[in-house]
Amino acid sequence: MAEASAISKLMRIPVGFATVLKTLLKKPVTVQYPDEQRPMSARFRGRHHLKRYENGLERCIGCALCAAACPADAIYVEASENTNEQRFSPGERYSKTYEINMLRCIFCGYCEDACPTNAIVLEPIEFPTGYTREGMIYTKQMLLEAPPTGTPATPQVTQPGTFDRPIIPFPAIDSSV
Ligand code: SF4
Ligand code: SF4
Repeated sequence: MAEASAISKLMRIPVGFATVLKTLLKKPVTVQYPDEQRPMSARFRGRHHLKRYENGLERCIGCALCAAACPADAIYVEASENTNEQRFSPGERYSKTYEINMLRCIFCGYCEDACPTNAIVLEPIEFPTGYTREGMIYTKQMLLEAPPTGTPATPQVTQPGTFDRPIIPFPAIDSSV
């Protein structure tokens, strides 16, 4: 009985070697991330952008509703006051500091849903990668999109009373179309 068991155990050795040889001949499945990336789904939204209005003013008013809605506590917002001499956004306040820790982000999109001005938008580009923790904290400078062609960047000098409301009203819907 003991002899049969020993033979059965010995038989496992060539089976083990055969498995190793078979695996050696296979193409490795390891992806050398982040240098090499698998194609993402076309519906993946992986990169936040801070949007502007057509006149170049920033949509973000520093309200931090996105930070409050974020389940991963990934967003940090610090607001400051607008003046007509130095206006960044319509209304009283703008985001002086806006940071997203992309190591925490789970791409849920709650920040987009919470934003009252459609300022923060996730867009379909490659998965964010980096080699350091600091490099994965996206600053306002990295997130804010460029002003439309022909419009000045922020801060702008504006006329008193022009941008008192924090949201520029959407254009009226043309019902004749
Ligand atoms: S996508 Fe979700 S997890 Fe990422 S910053 Fe927005 S709310 Fe936070
Ligand atoms: S991105 Fe939107 S929700 Fe977040 S601070 Fe700016 S205006 Fe408020």
